[in-house]
Amino acid sequence: MKLATRLQKFNEPETLKMAKLARELRAQGHDVVGLSLGEPDFDTPDHIKKALVDAVNNNYSHYPPVAGYPELRQAICTKLKRDNNLDYLPEHTLVSTGAKQSIANLVLATVEEGDDVIIPTPYWVSYSEVVRLAGANPILVRTSLESKFKISPEELEAAITPNTKLFMFSSPNNPTGTVYSKEELAALVPVFEKHPGIWIMSDEIYEYTNYVGKHESIAQFASIKDRVIIVNGLSKGYAMTGYRLGYIACSNVDLVKACDKLQGQFTSGANAVTQQGAVAALLGDMQPTADMVKEFSARRSMVMELLSAIPNIRIDEPAGAFYVFPDVSYYFGKKAGDTVIANADELCMFLLEKAHVSTVTGGAFGEPNCIRISYAASREDIQKGFTRIKDALLSLQ
Ligand code: PMP
Repeated sequence: MKLATRLQKFNEPETLKMAKLARELRAQGHDVVGLSLGEPDFDTPDHIKKALVDAVNNNYSHYPPVAGYPELRQAICTKLKRDNNLDYLPEHTLVSTGAKQSIANLVLATVEEGDDVIIPTPYWVSYSEVVRLAGANPILVRTSLESKFKISPEELEAAITPNTKLFMFSSPNNPTGTVYSKEELAALVPVFEKHPGIWIMSDEIYEYTNYVGKHESIAQFASIKDRVIIVNGLSKGYAMTGYRLGYIACSNVDLVKACDKLQGQFTSGANAVTQQGAVAALLGDMQPTADMVKEFSARRSMVMELLSAIPNIRIDEPAGAFYVFPDVSYYFGKKAGDTVIANADELCMFLLEKAHVSTVTGGAFGEPNCIRISYAASREDIQKGFTRIKDALLSLQ
């Protein structure tokens, strides 16, 4: 039996692949430190859990509206005004089963086969693969450690062609933790003004894990606001990865309706119970989020300290998210016994198999000189994991 050729267009997420390999090693009895996954190691706050349980008891067991319950769409608008000073109406929002689905919807809704989609590297693993699945071309614009992994207006301008339909980026960024300031976003706006046919996806799912100051959204610039599609969700800010809830906001109603139409055929509305929990999350007490971010901030300092003990890696302190993304290329070409570690993919496999620490190759994010290490793990695991990484790297000849 033959499977569709479309499956060959895109790859399985490297992040999930590493987590699977780590689980297999654990099942064989190895003590594996998992630093590959991007999910808070915290419990969902109690007031949200209560709303979820109440929703079960109040029989939220029926199909919800495809775009989300009206009270949740209103809550999203309230949140966007409160946190971001952005004005949206409920009809500008659409709730999905995770931000991942929000992204898949918006890509399928905006690009034709053969279109170009500009993605600055490093980028979150799924952007390029969903673009490929849609038959479009990811145009990867390489940024570097020297520019703090930020795309400049000149680089953006140079990448735009008549085929460019969409620009996709995240701030704070996964995997680098890069955060764009208001001035840096403002500098990109004139480029987009010159090219009115380009949609802009602004993935803001790490909004709260920002250690340098206020979160800034590119949607704040009036001249381009109606083609900015904000993506956000509950996974990272409220420790709710398993509940699966993401959303978009875009003041172009046609775009929202297009996503609604796609979602209506693929999955219908997001889980009814989760949507009720989401109202409680968005409108409720933000202290648990603040506490979690404080702990991430302390771990970030701890991780920078641990990294400073490893020679010949290059990194700047990340400004957001919960990852470090060091350049480890010094170690490429070195040997573990008889085996040469040629690149980041092989280095990650070496760290997993020999040091029993799971990380993710930078290749998955479009930056082959780096690896991503998550600090959404206990301090004990961070200590153990980074010590093992150091010993393993130092053992290379
Ligand atoms: N965007 C980014 C940048 C992410 O890191 C993730 C999760 N790793 C997502 C979107 C998707 O989040 P979810 O589907 O859990 O809402």
